[in-house]
Amino acid sequence: MSNRKSETSVNGGRRQFLQLTGLGIGAVALAAATSRSARAEDLPHLSPDDATAKALGYVEDSAKADSAKFPNHKPTQQCLNCNFYQGAAGSEFGPCTLFPGKAVHSKGWCSAYVAKPA
Ligand code: SF4
Repeated sequence: MSNRKSETSVNGGRRQFLQLTGLGIGAVALAAATSRSARAEDLPHLSPDDATAKALGYVEDSAKADSAKFPNHKPTQQCLNCNFYQGAAGSEFGPCTLFPGKAVHSKGWCSAYVAKPA
């Protein structure tokens, strides 16, 4: 009988530990996500006049891409559906892995565009 009590106590302790650990991990994940989105919003916007942006034909409005210079461009191609875009859904600007430290317009485009996998 006393073994059962001690087993119950161990299980209760383990359960409580797992619950507290789960809460802790959840809180850390939430803090990281909040901090990440706050940082993304703080990023300076990529200027179309930036040397690399210019070389890649970056525009803040995909409809205004130079189709003569970039014949493969399609108006439906926008940063928000590019594989390099890191912005949160619904945000106007977001980070792009090709332009570290800058935020690109979600409706923008550049010639490095790669469609997100479906
Ligand atoms: S690589 Fe993709 S997300 Fe980045 S600027 Fe070009 S089109 Fe936009």
